[in-house]
Order: sequence, then structure tokens, then C-alpha cells
Amino acid sequence: MIRISNLRYSYGSSGFQLSIPRLEVTATAKVGIVGPSGSGKSTLLNLISGAKVPNDGEIVVGDLSVSSMSDSQRRNFRASRIGFVFQDFELLDYLTVEENVLLPFGINSHLKFGQEQRELLESLAGQAGIAGKLNRRPEQLSQGERQRVAICRALITAPKIVLADEPTGSLDPQTAQEVLNLLIDQVSKHSATLLMVTHDHSQLHRLDRTIDMAQFLGSPVGSRVTDSQSREVSP
Ligand code: ADP
Ligand code: MG
Repeated sequence: MIRISNLRYSYGSSGFQLSIPRLEVTATAKVGIVGPSGSGKSTLLNLISGAKVPNDGEIVVGDLSVSSMSDSQRRNFRASRIGFVFQDFELLDYLTVEENVLLPFGINSHLKFGQEQRELLESLAGQAGIAGKLNRRPEQLSQGERQRVAICRALITAPKIVLADEPTGSLDPQTAQEVLNLLIDQVSKHSATLLMVTHDHSQLHRLDRTIDMAQFLGSPVGSRVTDSQSREVSP
């Protein structure tokens, strides 16, 4: 479960301000996040993951108040609870594909790597179509393959919260479909929450709900409807 209340965030330099009076996402929801470029979609994911801290308001994820954590608690929270697919992938060029996928285990010593994780690696890599490329470096992959490595890395810890920033943005329609299947399969299997930024409206019917960021732009807290901020998308 994700619960946001009275959130305000601004980048001091750019004048951009995000105000979210209230937003709730249930634990097993698969949610599409849409909105024009610059409307704060990536910022929202970074706030939920604890990579950014709100100026005001509260963000609760599961039973944890992310917005009240110390820096080290937030780092630990991010590494152990969140699977994040970065818009620009953030793969490390000096590591192999396999090492990139397994990076979360290197970053967080509390995460256990055993037979189960080894099997998940094989199954994810197979489903993502990168099984034969685990020993390559990211620079030896196509853009779409790199994106799929980033997705495998986000899923390898079987996280309860998956935040994906345009995870199919670099993919052709067929591969995008397969990658979305992979994300949805894994999230459903682990009863996790999926928040996925997308510009591809043809994907939204696969998700439970859509949040349009346009509603949060520049609206002072309290001046707008405080419930049902999201609109349901009919199948
Ligand atoms: P989206 O993902 O919807 O395209 P972002 O969340 O990336 O939007 O950005 C929201 C707004 O904040 C944009 O106007 C962007 O220019 C601005 N912004 C993003 N990152 C920074 C930053 N580090 N410093 C200043 N402004 C930023
Ligand atoms: Mg973005």
C-alpha cells in the first residue's frame, strides 16, 4: 500500500512544484502513470522510492513512513523494498549483464542470494530474452536489450513495490508487449504494487488504474478534490 498526503515538492531552481493532496494505491494494484512531459512523473516515483524527500507532507509505503526516515534508513528502504526501472536504465558499463542484474545483492548485504535467486535470474533472463547475453557488457547490447536488463534488475529481489519509469519506451511494440507481460506476471506472482509511467495508452487496459499527473500540477494543497484523484480506465 502506498499513501501520500499533503505532499509538496519543488526543485528550488526550476520553479516546478508538485502538490498531491491525497493519493492511495492498494497493495496489489497495477497503476499506470500518465501526463505530459515535465508533469512530475519521474519525480513522483523518486519521492515514493525515497530517492527524493518531500518539502512537506507524508509518504507511507506499507507500514513505513518514508518521508520521516533518516538518509541511511531511506537508502536501506530503497535497496531492500523497491524495484526501480530507471528511465535511462542506469546500467554500469564495467559490469556484465549478469552482474548488473545482481547488483542489488551487492548493494544491500541484507539481501540473500541463494538457489531461489539464481533460479529467478534464469527465469527472468529467459522471459526477457537476454539469457544468452548474460556475459556481455551493456555496451554490447541494443537499447531494447539494455532496457530489459534494467527490468530484470528491478525484479530480481522480488520486491513488493515496483516503480518503472517508461519501461517500454525503447522497445518495439512486440517486445514492449512481452516486457509488460513480464512485469505484470512478476508483480502478480509476488502480490506486489506496480507503478508504471507510460506514454503508450494502448498499455493502460492491462493495468488496474491510471493516475494522470496533470491534476497535481500547481494545485495548492486543499484547493482541489481530496479524494478519488485518479480516474479509472474502462477495459
Ligand atoms: P516527467 O517525468 O513527467 O517528464 P520530471 O519529474 O522529470 O517530469 O520533471 C518535472 C519537472 O521538474 C520538469 O519541469 C523538470 O524540468 C523539472 N526537474 C526535474 N529534475 C530537476 C532537477 N534536478 N532540478 C531542477 N528541475 C528539475
Ligand atoms: Mg520522466
